[in-house]
Amino acid sequence: MQRERISDNVYWLQSELYAQVTAGVIVGPQWAIVVDTLALPEETLAMREFIDNELKVPVRYLIDTHSHADHAWGNCFFPEATIISHTKCAQYLATSGVAALEATKKDNPSFANSHIVLPHLTFDDGELTLKVGKKNLIIMLTPGHTDDGISVFVEEDRILFAGDAFMPIPALYEGNYVDTLNTYTKIDSLGLENIIQGHGDIILRGEIEEAMRENINYLNKLKEVGEKARIKRNPGEYLSSIHVEDCGKSRVYLGGLAENLHKRNLIWIYKQVIAQYGMPTEDEYEPEPEEDDFDNLAYLDPNDVNAHSFEDDIDEYGSDDDWDDGYGPDDEDDED
Ligand SMILES: [Zn+2]
Repeated sequence: MQRERISDNVYWLQSELYAQVTAGVIVGPQWAIVVDTLALPEETLAMREFIDNELKVPVRYLIDTHSHADHAWGNCFFPEATIISHTKCAQYLATSGVAALEATKKDNPSFANSHIVLPHLTFDDGELTLKVGKKNLIIMLTPGHTDDGISVFVEEDRILFAGDAFMPIPALYEGNYVDTLNTYTKIDSLGLENIIQGHGDIILRGEIEEAMRENINYLNKLKEVGEKARIKRNPGEYLSSIHVEDCGKSRVYLGGLAENLHKRNLIWIYKQVIAQYGMPTEDEYEPEPEEDDFDNLAYLDPNDVNAHSFEDDIDEYGSDDDWDDGYGPDDEDDED
């Protein structure tokens, strides 16, 4: 686990074991707030040890930026904390989260002592503010990667813990295209010193503009490729030929998982496009992400453990006629 003090009483932690997932700690005189846990129990426990032994304060609040396994499955290692999340995050943890952890335990003994702890305090509108020491935290809605995304803005330091609302390569396959762009606009308007991405490195003030441009460019490319695939005789072959670099991103991002994440984005955008045009789904292609390290991500991802079939996805997305506005399923459709 990497660790860095990014400002007075603000710490950043990053996994060395899984997809460079990050977490944060904001410390006050009597207690601390944790933003997200790390993917594997051993790293969350190492984080806990650092707080206990070096910061020497109890954790009063733990904020889950969204329900995904790599961010929220470590809740159980902070039993004294009040857990805060989006209302939907608590719902997802209670349903798919519980099932996915049980499935994961069968294959991965390191999760033997883990259990899902549901958030105690949830919101789905407006903002929450929380004072720790002299710092004012504003917890805000940042949907896009998922519809339960929230971010933590440390006002005095102008640091945003963005969760997966901002990543080195956007991951949209459970998300919403327009929400992602709107969230970027919101993030851009905050006048930040640092963006703490849910995965990857800290983005410094001078790098924000470029990171933002690169991600928006990637999203535009993705949409373009999805539209082109629709009119290809063999969309699968065409999509397989579009690598992450062709969309302006490096495959070394996320500890080398970028290409596979990109493939999932391509499948997702293609499904969105054919659903929008009401095209038949029979005999369409389904390029599967290759069996590699990315499996670990799938495996930690509650939604993948309960993965839908292609047809189910099409049913789901097919009912969405908001293509021009939303690119993604409506809230109601996005239960998984
Ligand atoms: Zn994540």
